[in-house]
Amino acid sequence: MSRTGKSKKGPDTELVSAGRDPSAQHGFVNTPVYHGSTVLYASADDLFANRIRYSYGRRNSPTIEALTCALSELENAAGTVLAPSGLSAVTTALLSVCDAGDHILVADSVYHPNRHFCDTVLKRMGVETSYYDPLLGADIAGLFKPNTKAVFTESPGSLIFEVQDLPAIAEAAHKRGALVLCDNTWATPYFFKPLDFGADLSIQAGTKYISGHADVLIGSISANQKAWPRLHATHGALGLSVGPDDIFLALRGLRTMGVRLKHHQISAITVARWLEGRPEVARVLHPGLDSDPGHALWKRDFSGASGLFAIELKPAADKSVRTFLDALELFGMGYSWGGYESLIVPFDLKARTIAHKPAGQMLRLHIGLEEIADLIADLESAFAAMKA
Ligand SMILES: *Cc1c(COP(=O)(O)O)cnc(C)c1O
Repeated sequence: MSRTGKSKKGPDTELVSAGRDPSAQHGFVNTPVYHGSTVLYASADDLFANRIRYSYGRRNSPTIEALTCALSELENAAGTVLAPSGLSAVTTALLSVCDAGDHILVADSVYHPNRHFCDTVLKRMGVETSYYDPLLGADIAGLFKPNTKAVFTESPGSLIFEVQDLPAIAEAAHKRGALVLCDNTWATPYFFKPLDFGADLSIQAGTKYISGHADVLIGSISANQKAWPRLHATHGALGLSVGPDDIFLALRGLRTMGVRLKHHQISAITVARWLEGRPEVARVLHPGLDSDPGHALWKRDFSGASGLFAIELKPAADKSVRTFLDALELFGMGYSWGGYESLIVPFDLKARTIAHKPAGQMLRLHIGLEEIADLIADLESAFAAMKA
């Protein structure tokens, strides 16, 4: 029932109780959905002194506060703001840490639209971006310039899931006075808390596991004491606002995120291991597998793995890859992930400047909450169709 998280509880207890105060809402378990722009002051005195708990619907409301307080508690943050999408959370976080004339270091493995923002809007505004090998660790120290203000990390990174040594990167960055951002969408604060490992800002595409049902777009940025004032001011200046119904859905999703993630974890690792044994598959990229190059770092820093990973097929004709995809019945083809349903999408690494280009077709799988045996049977029959 605590909104402040004074006494730390286990992760599942935190998910259930964070940001929730039934005594403030006539005993009802869930925070009501406050639809509102105007908030009325009680008197002229209060108005002149700006004495009011919530001053305007864009800035705060009990609904917004229920989710931001919950996320601050889960991320061990000084404060959290919400954004209308995960991408908007990424761009707002970046805008809060750099000015014209600055340089930033961004992992080659970031979510592609993040890279697009750096190469277009930030560039236009006089911010220079250098992409770095996500596996650099402490060696990132050699890439700093006198005007480097921030290092963006995403771990494991989008598409091929490289695990980054966040504590080593954060140490190098802090020595040079740069802030560290981490896109933590894959693990969520349930499996990894970036601020505890040296990040100053932790970003979530709540569209994925927090919401968990493929029915909401929402993002969040949680910051430590140092990064919070500029994050809060930048977010306010940009006028970002998330509709209360979407916040309600994200809060509802958050309460069950632990049970969902544990299920995604077991199913994904089981399917990944099965895929490792398939003759059609060249590589399985899942940090939870012993065979994965990022496994040791993942084991050191993360308390679990979610349901998203990639495979590289052995070189095959385009047509047979399409036959495989079309033969799948339980895996939908479409972007985004983190919902209850299984998904598959082909991808390439053309936009990456540092990563090695694979020989075979890459596929990203999201393992949903269906029965594992059904998912494996579906993949098995699609492989059979591919061969036929
Ligand atoms: C999906 C995703 C985003 C963007 O989230 P949207 O809500 O779709 O804008 C950002 N970062 C990562 C790692 C993602 O997977």
